[in-house]
Amino acid sequence: MSAVGFKVMELAEESGRPVPPKAGATSENRTRVEAYNRRKLVVSLSGTVLLFAFVIAVVATGFSRNIASLTSSACNNQYLAFLVFAALLGITEIVLSFPLKFYSGFYLEHAYSLSSQTFFHWLWEQTKALLVGGFLGIPVLLVFFYCLEKFGNSWWLPVAVVMFIFTTLLARIAPKVIFPLFYKFTRLEKEELKERINRLCAEAGFHVKGVFSFNMSKNTKKANAGFTGLGKTKRVILGDTLLEKFSEDEIETVLAHELGHYRLGHIWKGILLSTVVMFVGLFITSRLYLVSLSLFGFERIDDLAAFPLLGLWLGLFGFLTSPIMNLISRRHEYEADQYAIKKSGNPSAFIDALKKLAEMNLADSAPNPVVEFLFHSHPSIEKRIKRAESERDKYAAVTS
Ligand SMILES: [Zn+2]
Repeated sequence: MSAVGFKVMELAEESGRPVPPKAGATSENRTRVEAYNRRKLVVSLSGTVLLFAFVIAVVATGFSRNIASLTSSACNNQYLAFLVFAALLGITEIVLSFPLKFYSGFYLEHAYSLSSQTFFHWLWEQTKALLVGGFLGIPVLLVFFYCLEKFGNSWWLPVAVVMFIFTTLLARIAPKVIFPLFYKFTRLEKEELKERINRLCAEAGFHVKGVFSFNMSKNTKKANAGFTGLGKTKRVILGDTLLEKFSEDEIETVLAHELGHYRLGHIWKGILLSTVVMFVGLFITSRLYLVSLSLFGFERIDDLAAFPLLGLWLGLFGFLTSPIMNLISRRHEYEADQYAIKKSGNPSAFIDALKKLAEMNLADSAPNPVVEFLFHSHPSIEKRIKRAESERDKYAAVTS
């Protein structure tokens, strides 16, 4: 799901990012979990550094100017030239970053027995994600180029407005149109479980038709659950890996966690926050872009060859603001955990579910605090369990 980059509220950190080991893990296990998460982190950071280096090299060496003049002379329409230019640079980046993607997404997942994919299956999933991303990217790029031509240095404002409408629309249609390209969704069937879920959903004011299971097991042995969509498309999705390995009590608490995100308005709060960040980010980016243009000897803001610089600033802004987004996200996760415990009335099952999740996902339960602060959208499992235990104690005090 993260492959296409949509905001999905999840129970655990999305794969590819380091996260939480089971309580009472052996030291051998602990070393294995730490090694896996460290490698994932190193690859992810190296990828970011290399990407920034690539952009600077492309502009500084004149490669970008060569490609720009080539596409401009080959295409008589400037919008088409812009798209071809973006595609050529995009393909170059994909080819150069392939070894890292393969190492992190395929090799490491197999080395730690977390993946159930063959190489070709993995490659196909990656290709699909690229195609969908490319397809969605075309209208965005065209609107962006239009705004740059039409509004000059004020381009950031109309672009931000259009991006807000586009992402909201996408969040709404993604569960029905995009996610099914990657997974098969089926309505949850187990009768007894369904009844319990019905009750939970009714209490949360959530339309029960929206609880689905999806075939996560075709790609991974990890487990996860999430909340997706907006308005009528909102739904809770549970990985089949989770449904298979978790008891009904545990599943109920997981579901309650997801409903907590809905009930506590995390979806709209998240959209609001990212909208503010986007407006501010695009404004700052537009100013920094102007400064960097003169630095590299460009005269026009719509010079094709200069666009990689804009990409660089946008990427840098995203990288620098993600700790703020993560801070809010971790707070929301705690709140949803608390909701889950209160609504299910079964803190022990929730704690067991968290432990199981960490074990299945090879998640680092106690990551380095700095790493956690900067990169984790979810609090460490150790912290989540600790809070859940104090909730359980409070609960026990009330009921006894
Ligand atoms: Zn969550």
